[in-house]
Amino acid sequence: MELNDLIVYARGAFRRYDDARVGLLTHGLNYGTGCFEGIRGYWNEEDQELYLLHLREHYDRLAISAKILLMALPHTTDELIDITVELCARNGFKHNVYIRPVAFKSAEDIGVRLHGVSEALTIVAVPYEGYFAAAEGLRTCVSSWRRAEDTIAPARAKITGNYVNSALAKSDAQRSGFDEAILLSHDGHVSEGSAENIFLVKGGVLYTPDPAQNILEGVTRRCVISLAQRELGMTVVERAIDRSELYGADEIFFTGTAVGIVPVGSVDHRQVGSGARGPVTRSLAEMYDRIVNGREPAYRGWLTPTYEAQRVPVA
Ligand code: PMP
Repeated sequence: MELNDLIVYARGAFRRYDDARVGLLTHGLNYGTGCFEGIRGYWNEEDQELYLLHLREHYDRLAISAKILLMALPHTTDELIDITVELCARNGFKHNVYIRPVAFKSAEDIGVRLHGVSEALTIVAVPYEGYFAAAEGLRTCVSSWRRAEDTIAPARAKITGNYVNSALAKSDAQRSGFDEAILLSHDGHVSEGSAENIFLVKGGVLYTPDPAQNILEGVTRRCVISLAQRELGMTVVERAIDRSELYGADEIFFTGTAVGIVPVGSVDHRQVGSGARGPVTRSLAEMYDRIVNGREPAYRGWLTPTYEAQRVPVA
């Protein structure tokens, strides 16, 4: 697929990808002064429908990220939901997609700051399949890069510039032969993966770092907590987790919009459980898969249908 075949949303209108370029001096490009979201859409062949997952939660989080950057989004969450649905319908997608809204400081001038800089919002949606090739047990390592503290850069905001932290950790891990990095906070507690939240199962209890561990408070994380409690009747504990607790876990998995729910097979060369996907990870991942594909009527509220809402027949 050629990028220029895509219809994107930029400067308040739907345009061709190539008609929505940004200039070299764009503030957000030079200083990382932007915030973004990653949203997924799942194509259901049987229903001939593209289900967009958790639009409201993502756009509410974007609004908070924007507020932290002293930005005012040009649209409300409801408007952004409508624009995103229309964007997908205009592209006529009949496959899974990844949607990337970005709000950024758009002024083309020199001078790092947040105030008094013009802003822009773009939304691009692209065909997308999986994030990790390995569905069975990722090889992970604890990174020597620490997760940036909230006192350094707001951890709970999805800020473009913050992702240099993730990129450093991810490339180090992959160049050392691992699939993914696990970052610790400055005080040595487990924070998260480079672009995923982390959970561990020990003695039938689900543990995950609490929001004070400099995590990005993931939309998928919140869903997994509620599925584990409601559907599996599990106790879920949000607390500080030590590195060595990872080594003794029965199961570990990552959660995120891009990755879904993916098992960790080893940490620092120590096998987790059997090394393959454990029973809790399997139950949650299978449940999540059915829900996001529109096969669980009780969870239809997580999804926004693209074509039904638009009443646009699929070409
Ligand atoms: N942490 C980081 C650093 C991320 O980039 C992501 C992906 N957005 C997550 C966690 C998971 O968040 P979500 O479930 O909202 O995708």
